[in-house]
Amino acid sequence: MIGHELPTVMVVDDEPEVLTAVADALEDEFNVLTSTSPLVARAMLEEDDISPVVIISDQRMPELAGHEFLRWARELSDATRVLITGYTDIDALGAAVNAGQIFGYLPKPWTPEKLRRLIREAAEHCAVRRALAEERRLLSHLMNSVPDAISFKDRNLRYLRSNWAHAEALGVPDPADLIGRTDAEVGAEGAAGREAADRAALAAGITVSDTALDGAAGRRWHSVVRSTFTGGDGAVEGLVTIARDITPAKEAERALSEAHATLERRVAERTEDLAATARDLLAARKAADIANEAKSRYLATVAHELRTPLTGVIGFSELLLKGGVSPGEWHRLLTLQAEAGRTLLGLLDDILDLSKIEAGRLTLEILPLDFRALVDDCLALVRPSAAGKGLSLTSTVSGALPGRILGDPTRLRQVVLNLLTNAVKFTAAGGVSLAAEIDPAPEGPNGGPSRLRVVITDTGIGIPPERVSGLFEEFSQVDESTARRFGGTGLGLAICRRLVEHMEGRIGVDSTPGQGSRFWFDLPLAVPVAAPVVTVAPPPVIEAPAAAGARPKGRRILLVEDDRSTQILVSTILRGVGHQVEIAENGAAAVEAVDKGSYDLVLMDMHMPVMGGLEATARMRALTRTPDRPLPPLVVLTAGVSVEERERCRAVGLDIFLSKPVDLEKLLHAAANVGLPAENGPHD
Ligand code: ADP
Repeated sequence: MIGHELPTVMVVDDEPEVLTAVADALEDEFNVLTSTSPLVARAMLEEDDISPVVIISDQRMPELAGHEFLRWARELSDATRVLITGYTDIDALGAAVNAGQIFGYLPKPWTPEKLRRLIREAAEHCAVRRALAEERRLLSHLMNSVPDAISFKDRNLRYLRSNWAHAEALGVPDPADLIGRTDAEVGAEGAAGREAADRAALAAGITVSDTALDGAAGRRWHSVVRSTFTGGDGAVEGLVTIARDITPAKEAERALSEAHATLERRVAERTEDLAATARDLLAARKAADIANEAKSRYLATVAHELRTPLTGVIGFSELLLKGGVSPGEWHRLLTLQAEAGRTLLGLLDDILDLSKIEAGRLTLEILPLDFRALVDDCLALVRPSAAGKGLSLTSTVSGALPGRILGDPTRLRQVVLNLLTNAVKFTAAGGVSLAAEIDPAPEGPNGGPSRLRVVITDTGIGIPPERVSGLFEEFSQVDESTARRFGGTGLGLAICRRLVEHMEGRIGVDSTPGQGSRFWFDLPLAVPVAAPVVTVAPPPVIEAPAAAGARPKGRRILLVEDDRSTQILVSTILRGVGHQVEIAENGAAAVEAVDKGSYDLVLMDMHMPVMGGLEATARMRALTRTPDRPLPPLVVLTAGVSVEERERCRAVGLDIFLSKPVDLEKLLHAAANVGLPAENGPHD
């Protein structure tokens, strides 16, 4: 039985007594395996897991010579081999020693003590070799299992060893191919640089560096440690190099520094954005402050402008109420009061117009129109005041202007009339002329349409150059005395500019103080495709009441109105010319009155408590009528109707309008004529 605790010694000798003697001598220290046949022993070595530390063989055996057997044994086992021999075999012994086949020999006759000493040495030798082999195995395992590239070079920088990772990094298939060669001889990438770094390390003892190597897989980074190693005498024998692939770390580092840079850039941008936002906010606030200030200034001006005519209205009323006014004075004060009232109305109209434009609620009603007729209408309106001042009033409209053009007739008339009125107002002698011509379309692919250009020239007081720029702003009278001398609100030109710009046009003025002014505006000229001409209806010209003299004078009129002063005003006027007037306070009362009574005409307010004008009209229409008592004609009496409201009125059949404040002439005309056969109605 083989013990595990003792090392095994195999003994081969054809003489059993020798085997016994050897076993006796060694068995205290070794497991002794014996065989009389070298062939059997060989088979045991081949098959059994015996791993002896020493194999002892006799030289002289019939089957096989001892040195031959040991040569075989060397291939099968790492055991130390010992030959037992007599002096006669000295030649074979010498050959075996020389061939390195045996560790020692034991000449016959031997003593047990001699044998034990030799076998102990041989066992120790085997243990040392085994330990060394194990060490080498572990080292090589270490070398080849680490991912770092490891190499050893001698002082002349020839490779002594290298691991697989190193060979792979150099593009060499096997580390063994490197041994004995320099980098230059291997022809690997970066050889010169590596050799220089090696020499520096040989001189310094140790160096650490990061190097980049560009290969097929792109650039790889290595952290390289080079360290000299010394021999037993302390002299430098060579260099061991360990290179670690740090590409991922380098890439991470680069990504990190890029991220850092990006972050810094973003922070900088964000800071700049914030600063810009702060600047924008400041600017917006400043603009809002300016707008606010402008609005406050505007409101103050509006209040001031309203106060002036109001002072007239109230002041003259108080003067009259005080009494003791002569009839002539009485008439003068009333005339002035009416004038102040009209100024007030004009101002309100202008302010409403402007606010409508500002609020973007201005919608243009583009229709085919006859511009020549429009000019004639406007001239007709200013002719009386021009004639009153002895001014000439002329116009020329280019023959090239088409008979019909497209535009908003109401707004165009407003602009032309405003400029003409101003020209007449600010001219004391000489004349006013209007010229309308066509500016041809500008050359080039984006030339745009040709333009209608209207110029109004006067020989009036002119405008100082420094006032021209603000002229088209609200409340810009050239000086305050102007208003006192000529009247006006200072809003007309502001409205004109906005209207013209709304029509995609431009407006301007050239003026010389003391000589006169040239106001002009132009608009893109558009011509209707094939629509019927809509002749611009002139402003309602109401026949003087005298014209209706032939008509029956006293008519029965129902005035539907909730406002007390309007009730008094309208009824007094109408009764004054012989009409009978009944008053209904609201729509509901009016429906009842019409149901029961019989009227020639109903004057209907729109906005009233209990029931408004629209509903009242609809209900009146629903009443059952008899041929002898038909529904009386209806006239809308209102303080201002929007386009939509007018549409709603028309929908219930109300298409005759009278606006408040009540125009005496128009009221009398309507009262006398509406509903009678030849009357088409005074459209307001
Ligand atoms: P207003 O209702 O006061 O006339 P406008 O806006 O129409 O308001 O005109 C503003 C001011 O421009 C006038 O008060 C006047 O000082 C000046 N102005 C306008 N038209 C003329 C003109 N043809 N000649 C001289 N000054 C003019």
